[in-house]
Amino acid sequence: MVKKVVIIGGGAAGVDVLELLLRGQGAAEEMEITLLKKEEEGFFSTCGLPFALQGMYSIKDLSLFEPEFYRAKGIDFRTETEVTSINLEEGYVRVDSIEEIRYDELVIATGSKPFIPPLEGTNLEGVYTLSGREDGEKVEAAMSANPRNALVIGGGIAGLQTAVAFSKRGIYTTVVEMFPYLLPSILDADMASIVQKWLYKEISFILGKPVSAIKGEQRVKSVIVGEEEIPADIVLMSAGMRPSVDIAREAGIEVGESGGIVTDRALRVKKGKLYLDNVYALGDCVEVIDAVTYRPRLSQLASTALIQARVVANNIRGISSSYEPCLSPTVATISGLQIGSVGVITEVARRYGIKIKVGKAIKYTKARFFPGRKLIIAKLLFEAYTEKLIGAQIISGETVAERINELTLAIRAGITARDIWMRERCFDPSLTMVEDVIVDAALKAVGS
Ligand SMILES: Cc1cc2nc3c(=O)[nH]c(=O)nc-3n(C[C@H](O)[C@H](O)[C@H](O)COP(=O)(O)OP(=O)(O)OC[C@H]3O[C@@H](n4cnc5c(N)ncnc54)[C@H](O)[C@@H]3O)c2cc1C
Repeated sequence: MVKKVVIIGGGAAGVDVLELLLRGQGAAEEMEITLLKKEEEGFFSTCGLPFALQGMYSIKDLSLFEPEFYRAKGIDFRTETEVTSINLEEGYVRVDSIEEIRYDELVIATGSKPFIPPLEGTNLEGVYTLSGREDGEKVEAAMSANPRNALVIGGGIAGLQTAVAFSKRGIYTTVVEMFPYLLPSILDADMASIVQKWLYKEISFILGKPVSAIKGEQRVKSVIVGEEEIPADIVLMSAGMRPSVDIAREAGIEVGESGGIVTDRALRVKKGKLYLDNVYALGDCVEVIDAVTYRPRLSQLASTALIQARVVANNIRGISSSYEPCLSPTVATISGLQIGSVGVITEVARRYGIKIKVGKAIKYTKARFFPGRKLIIAKLLFEAYTEKLIGAQIISGETVAERINELTLAIRAGITARDIWMRERCFDPSLTMVEDVIVDAALKAVGS
């Protein structure tokens, strides 16, 4: 019998599931797949937006697949379509409040939307968010209208990358972060201060203070932070993303303390006491279990969505598959500086009472005599008793992504500080130092 699969959402999570189902042998014949999404485009890479705004390519280049690409493969790929409710008892979703679409298997990949702080003035002209193509085009148009001052609310990755885009266009740019340091969800304060120093010529920072109002008549004119009134022609609200869970919640699906949909390891949703056999959720709309603290939290990365999509696609195809607790390895380039983080930061360890040993080292990415070498700073966190690696933060001009991937595997494998310095590593002066920064950080952490 042909299985009817309905996917709500055409962001990274929904499209990854679709692609993986299509890749499965004979899947197209075994399944009838409908994907429903609100936007008008096929698949758009949101992750590429900040660099498009920096002028590295155009926003159009981020539309990776047109709807026709999937329709030609026999998928009922519906754009500009909103699911208004889910009926779990009878197994259908209601679309645009008129049509009912029946499903055998349902995938909820409704993603997230920008958090709008409860402030006066967020609806003024000139105030933007950055969560998709439409937002990106609005910000780009605003940048092209020769504004003098931009203000970014939120010193996370997307906020800083967009601040760099503003500054590159000659716009005087201020970032306001209510934590006392930048990138507070992925870096410790000492590591974040390196990023701040790197950016100080391009961007002004106000740290440790929230924005209290956005001022203007019809258009934004200024922003109030503490006692200060800062002129602003553009305001970008980049204060985090909230899971889109309304239709799931209304259907009786459990939403957890982090605000994301609760799932089991197969990524099946929960209603009452039961996990439903044929309803899955993944991507920005779900909560994950942290692999170090074992507490629920959000992950909200395209890379997390891809692994979850493998689990969901396998389970739909009858191949039993589980999603492991999550480490959320994260990397970003901010004005040429690469920043990476995985596992817990010091604040999270402290919050959950995990005692840690910490080692920090500064070295080069190549031999100290080799031209073109870059400084590299690594901070490693080990659980104090077992000396197992539980967190890593790295900053450099190069090699950060591969190191974060290596350390992600190391945390998963339960690698200790001793393992790190006693295991062989490769060496060539043009590529590495003979003693790597990670080895040095591990030695410093345990004092050997
Ligand atoms: C500026 C920016 C840069 C980023 N950079 C990175 C990066 O470098 N690396 C990384 O790993 N992650 C990055 N991310 C995060 C990444 O983009 C998200 O984790 C990822 O897009 C989540 O995919 P998703 O499909 O879960 O959600 P979304 O992309 O939010 O997609 C949700 C989909 O659900 C649809 N939908 C919602 N409700 C309904 C409904 N009722 N009916 C029909 N359709 C509905 C929407 O229309 C949309 O198609 C970035 C995010 C932003 C905003």
